[in-house]
Amino acid sequence: MSAVDLGIPRLRVTAPSADRPDSPLLLDRFGRVATDLRVSLTDRCNLRCTYCMPAAGLDWMPRAEMLSDAEIGAVLRVAVRELGVTSVRFTGGEPTLRKGIEQIIADTAALAPRPRISMTTNAIGLARRAAALADAGVDRINVSLDTLRRDRFSELTRRDRLEDVLAGLAAARDAGLNPVKVNAVLVRGRNDDEAVPLLRYCLDNGYHLRFIEQMPLDAQHGWNRADMVTAAEILSQLRKAFDLTPSPTPRGAAPAERWLVDGGPAEVGVIASVTRPFCGDCDRTRLTADGQLRSCLFSQTETDLRGPLRAGADDGEIAELWRAAMWAKLAGHTINEAGFAQPLRPMSAIGG
Ligand code: SAM
Ligand code: SF4
Repeated sequence: MSAVDLGIPRLRVTAPSADRPDSPLLLDRFGRVATDLRVSLTDRCNLRCTYCMPAAGLDWMPRAEMLSDAEIGAVLRVAVRELGVTSVRFTGGEPTLRKGIEQIIADTAALAPRPRISMTTNAIGLARRAAALADAGVDRINVSLDTLRRDRFSELTRRDRLEDVLAGLAAARDAGLNPVKVNAVLVRGRNDDEAVPLLRYCLDNGYHLRFIEQMPLDAQHGWNRADMVTAAEILSQLRKAFDLTPSPTPRGAAPAERWLVDGGPAEVGVIASVTRPFCGDCDRTRLTADGQLRSCLFSQTETDLRGPLRAGADDGEIAELWRAAMWAKLAGHTINEAGFAQPLRPMSAIGG
């Protein structure tokens, strides 16, 4: 199979909108304030999850187009000091493939006010690196794990690495990156009978499990609604083995609806991005590894920060571009509307 061309769109926002209130924060027209920044450190990955990437991988971003460590540092400084970002999540692709990630994290942790720092990872190699990542400043970690069966893991990720992931999870817990969260995507005909075993495993090991509905963000455009395992279906599987009651903890901007398991305190979450969208509470803003701002996973447009950064824009100018980009954020994704178009960038190049 040949690699897939990403054909990335570009939108350069040059002037702030006249109707935007005079606020330093990342406001949009719908009253939301973005305080949670997702930073993709690379589009490369050492797995090939079928719902994310084709077997042959993708045309990776040319290195020269990726932000350098110093450029990422500059953008993060603006986000935290000028724009009110309080939470930074590093992701990818696979963020642990980024050389120097520990220093990027340490530099982020040195910002004032210090943001909360988290990472989403497939946990390959985490067994060796969890302690160093925690020392650098990672507070919490999300690990993707869709199956506990080695044959299925190999089919779903196209790599025989289940043991590495389980070891990585344990290392994260031992390094104090608690609560360790596990993200699971159920795929029809592959692992759609594993909701209960996954939850048992996470309860036994002290991990917080969240199921994520599969979204139309794969590079191969293979998503189809009829095949999607829905939140309702996942909950009905879980209810056959556990008593689920709504969690009393307020959800806020968190994407997961949470349930107490067998009266608590353990919980399970379901992120129903497709069947029960939570766009009205979204507090996210996103930076791709090649320096493009996105106001939403599903944005069809991006705002280039790399060009202005390399042309010598100062912090105030970068901040204004960012504010203008977020002011233009749409009300929500349109997966459930006729005419929905999948963004050109796949999840791995946006930063999930
Ligand atoms: N490589 C890291 C990992 O897998 O955790 C970080 C990047 S990955 C794109 C982030 C999250 O997106 C993972 O939990 C993954 O399961 C999820 N993901 C990827 N493609 C998805 C899709 N089409 N629908 C829903 N979730 C998806
Ligand atoms: Fe890699 Fe994460 Fe995508 Fe799987 S979901 S292919 S681990 S980026």
